[in-house]
Amino acid sequence: QSKADGKGRVTRFSQDIAERLLAQKSLEADLREAMSLNHLEVHYQSLHDTQTRQVKGFEALLRWKRRGLDFVPPPDFIPVAEKLGLIDEIGEWVLRHACQEALNWPSQLTVAVNISPMQVHSGNIANRVLSILSETGLAPHRLELEITESVLLEAAESTLLTLHQLRQLGVRIALDDFGTGYSSLSYLTTFPFDKIKIDRSFVRNISTRANASSVIEMIVQLSTELGMITTAEGVENEEQLRCLQIMGCSQVQGYLFARPQSAHALLLQAPNAVVARSQPV
Ligand code: C2E
Ligand code: MG
Ligand code: MG
Ligand code: MG
Repeated sequence: QSKADGKGRVTRFSQDIAERLLAQKSLEADLREAMSLNHLEVHYQSLHDTQTRQVKGFEALLRWKRRGLDFVPPPDFIPVAEKLGLIDEIGEWVLRHACQEALNWPSQLTVAVNISPMQVHSGNIANRVLSILSETGLAPHRLELEITESVLLEAAESTLLTLHQLRQLGVRIALDDFGTGYSSLSYLTTFPFDKIKIDRSFVRNISTRANASSVIEMIVQLSTELGMITTAEGVENEEQLRCLQIMGCSQVQGYLFARPQSAHALLLQAPNAVVARSQPV
């Protein structure tokens, strides 16, 4: 009896693995296909001045519309792209699209692009960014590159050199998802970031948990002292916004203002209208 149970369990277990491997294989095949068929899209989410609510720029967020299915969330396919060695190509594609798109917006608006750690470590990101800037003609100061802390864990010397090269081009560097993972305060002094993005896990609890709001307050104060601006991610309600206003956080981003939307949808509203509409009502 118990033997049969055990065997059944083993079989189920290996079926599970087989199914997962199959799913993985088809994900890989589909991702390669998506690139050649143009099934990738860049969507944009606005960033706002915390006090005035005015739009300051947009973050580019990659979307994959998988064969008639729903959008695949980036955390599900970016690791696959990294594993397949496709991330440089995809990352460059996003960068080019985003820079091109920003030319359709009022010139005071910035565009932020997420950069995978693998792109930073590949060693030629600064050259790629430089050529995309000259290809598109976007002013470097309008481009912001978002990197995560995990970038700083590896190859410290060459990573710092790369980040300095990027900064010398005139683009800005933001530290994304700050406060999660392997966060260390030393990262804030290791490299002169232009912006710190406070992870939404803190913002979620800002008005209900004293420790979450203390952490945000500390990050805002420290960043300000170090000459960096702060953006709070995942702002979903007025209560959270009010707290961030009191704390002096520079910018906010979240569903309270807008969800990520296609470039087309954005332009239909006309960027000037987007700017005007974002004023307090
Ligand atoms: P991220 O850079 O931290 O982007 C913010 C994520 O939070 C986005 O998820 C956005 O849709 C979501 N978000 C924004 N406001 C709210 C809110 O109020 N509430 C909630 N619950 N969520 C909100 P998304 O688009 O699924 O992207 C997830 C992550 O995938 C990004 O996190 C980024 O790390 C990565 N990613 C996206 N596009 C790219 C890309 O082109 N290249 C690379 N390397 N990574 C990307
Ligand atoms: Mg980001
Ligand atoms: Mg983030
Ligand atoms: Mg995130």
